[in-house]
Amino acid sequence: MPDGVRPVPGFLKKLIPLLILTALAGYIIVAVRKPSVPPELAPEQLTLRDGMSVLAPTPIWEELEAYQETIDRETFLGELGKIYSAGEAWKETIQIEEDHAMIAADTENKLKLRFAKPGVAKGPIKRYWRPVSEMPPAGNREKRPLSGVKIAIDPGHIGGTWAQMEERWYQIKNKGTQVKEGELTLTTARILKPMLEKLGARVWLVRRDLEPITPRRPEDFKALATTYSDSRIRWNSEKFFYRYDEIRMRAWHVNERIKPDLVLCLHFNAEAWANPRNPTFVDRNHLHLLINGTYSKGEFAKQDQRLHLLKRLLQRIHPEELALSTSVAEAMAKETGLPPWTYDTANAKSVNDSPYVWARNLLANRVYTCPVVFLEPYVMNNREVYERIGAGDYEGEKMVAGKIRKSIFHEYATGVANGLANYYRKTRR
Ligand SMILES: [Zn+2]
Repeated sequence: MPDGVRPVPGFLKKLIPLLILTALAGYIIVAVRKPSVPPELAPEQLTLRDGMSVLAPTPIWEELEAYQETIDRETFLGELGKIYSAGEAWKETIQIEEDHAMIAADTENKLKLRFAKPGVAKGPIKRYWRPVSEMPPAGNREKRPLSGVKIAIDPGHIGGTWAQMEERWYQIKNKGTQVKEGELTLTTARILKPMLEKLGARVWLVRRDLEPITPRRPEDFKALATTYSDSRIRWNSEKFFYRYDEIRMRAWHVNERIKPDLVLCLHFNAEAWANPRNPTFVDRNHLHLLINGTYSKGEFAKQDQRLHLLKRLLQRIHPEELALSTSVAEAMAKETGLPPWTYDTANAKSVNDSPYVWARNLLANRVYTCPVVFLEPYVMNNREVYERIGAGDYEGEKMVAGKIRKSIFHEYATGVANGLANYYRKTRR
């Protein structure tokens, strides 16, 4: 020790290793938790790219290698044509041979997916979610049919101060109830969560308040919006924020953090209401549920959409999603008394006997890599629905819009809970 340098006091000598250990422990905790930090957008995501959807991360086609020889030709082709494709839209990007499929991957390469020989499919299938057939016995199947089932509830949209930007808002002549879809879905989610927990489920809310999940804001997408259009820069940058980035961030939370057995996407439907400050009311009120499917030619042409579709197909998400959605649709119809909505457009098709269930390709039912039950009950600009929303949530039943009934939120949540309970009571060991 050189002259003039004071020795380190004894207590400090003891403290130093402790400080180093604390710092090290802190570093390890941060390092271990690192994968759970939401991803930043890569620079290429903020550019306009051919064959890619807005803001889509660059697809990793190698992910499909895990599914070699896990599905037979008949199942693959059957589901591709019957569920996922609008007409023969798939034929420009996927080629079916005797024992394999050639799939257009990125712009230069094709991926060869080998089929399983009938009856000798390799397993287990790589996926984070469990179909009911792989769940342990429920214990008390009557009282707790959802025992251990992991459910993520995604209350659609944001609401609050964002509702007008989202175009999910209206108010009559600037007075009275403000109808905001993002708040209606959150109120329903908060009622539904304890109902599902009582049935044995483990439940997460993807959004807990009236704020977005994404840390980004419309101004972060201004440069990208400029490359799309000169006239609607503000409108586009807002859309990139609340619709695309927000939904992709929710999917990241679901797929990377929660890893549930299913997602419930809660929405309220609407018909065109023209001016949101003086809306047009309609007599119609209806119910439908969406499963993922009916990809158009243009959607097959997008690399990221093709990969999501194939992951869903190879993970066998569809059969579970359809069975769950059909059961929930039946219980919702019974609880609400609503008639089915019928599509007459090319972007949706009916795939089973249920008049309520339609296959349609939405960002929010495509990017969650697990079964999604996507609900569209109640027309928000129907007069009766408007009165029921105005009555708010309440316990039990009371006279609202000429009828003694539950609050619209309790009715919605009860329908969903009953549908899930029925499904697991019927199918679980
Ligand atoms: Zn909605």
